[in-house]
Amino acid sequence: MRILITGGAGFLGSHLCDRLIEAGHDLICLDNLFTGRRQNVGHLLNHPRFEFIRHDIIDPFKFEVDQIYNLACPASPPHYQYNPIKTTKTSVVGAINCLGLAKRLKARVFQASTSEVYGDPSVHPQPESYWGNVNPIGRRSCYDEGKRCAETLFFDYHRENKVDIRVVRIFNTYGPRMHPNDGRVVSNFIVQALKGEDITVYGDGSQTRSFCYVDDLIEGFIRLMNQTETVGPVNIGNPGEFTMLELAELVLKKVGGTSKIVHRDLPADDPKQRRPDISLAQKHLGWEPKVPLEEGIERTIAYFKSEI
Ligand code: NAD
Ligand code: UDP
Repeated sequence: MRILITGGAGFLGSHLCDRLIEAGHDLICLDNLFTGRRQNVGHLLNHPRFEFIRHDIIDPFKFEVDQIYNLACPASPPHYQYNPIKTTKTSVVGAINCLGLAKRLKARVFQASTSEVYGDPSVHPQPESYWGNVNPIGRRSCYDEGKRCAETLFFDYHRENKVDIRVVRIFNTYGPRMHPNDGRVVSNFIVQALKGEDITVYGDGSQTRSFCYVDDLIEGFIRLMNQTETVGPVNIGNPGEFTMLELAELVLKKVGGTSKIVHRDLPADDPKQRRPDISLAQKHLGWEPKVPLEEGIERTIAYFKSEI
């Protein structure tokens, strides 16, 4: 197949490119390189079935493809809050551009949505049927509400125009090719520990997240895209739940060194807990994560050692 991946030079997008090239497809990787890096797909740039196009998803685009994966959007809180109006535009106008193209081509289109649609959840763990608890006017809203609106657009194009959609709700994912200055917790802690700097735990560190290793996540993407039982939304994530203090201690144990844990202010609207209910992914995709946190953290530490 010919496949378009928006945000293909980012952390997740570049791993998806690898998997789809391995499977024999022709790829168009579209990215404005806001948070992505050319080097993430550097090894593919001369591949005969790979094409990189620097383009902003909010400007219209036309390609002849069979499938579209829409991943373009900054994902780390410091990056999506850097220009919040642009973040909302990227999610909303970007979704309209992808859906319009999919409608014209009768192509299947995949949306990388997020556990952030659940906001600071009062239901735990979060099933797809939970509608969430999102502040519509806070610092995180540009991302959360942008992604929620994108889901709305996907389902309206599906109902009104019969567009063939797939929607995944991604829970915190980590692994090689995260940007060292990305600002997300796993990369921050590992880079700090490797440099012997303080490990910055926000708040008292009792808030929880569930971390999925990137290879597991990409397997879930491919399974969701290539089945016909469900259009989603489907949660993909690892149900293992850890406090940020536990994560800091694990990273310190694995890296060794002299770093100390220090506490910093908790950002506004920081969700207190997050864990996916993955029953739907198990039922429809036969999917569950395989890589435990300790092993994934070891692989990610090895990557950052070579990077910095
Ligand atoms: P990332 O920041 O590494 O990748 C996003 C990519 O999109 C980057 O390459 C960036 O340059 C590109 N991009 C941003 N705005 C763009 C625009 N206007 N036009 C074209 N390209 C643009 O982040 P990631 O972790 O790889 O996330 C990929 C997708 O998955 C995002 O949509 C994100 O919201 C979603 N997601 C990721 C996670 C996670 O834990 N990694 C969790 C939930 C959802
Ligand atoms: N966090 C932290 N120290 C850091 C970066 C993040 O304690 O250096 C916390 C953050 O407050 C949040 C959790 O780690 O509670 C996950 O943050 P991240 O930005 O990775 O993702 P998100 O909040 O979007 O889940």
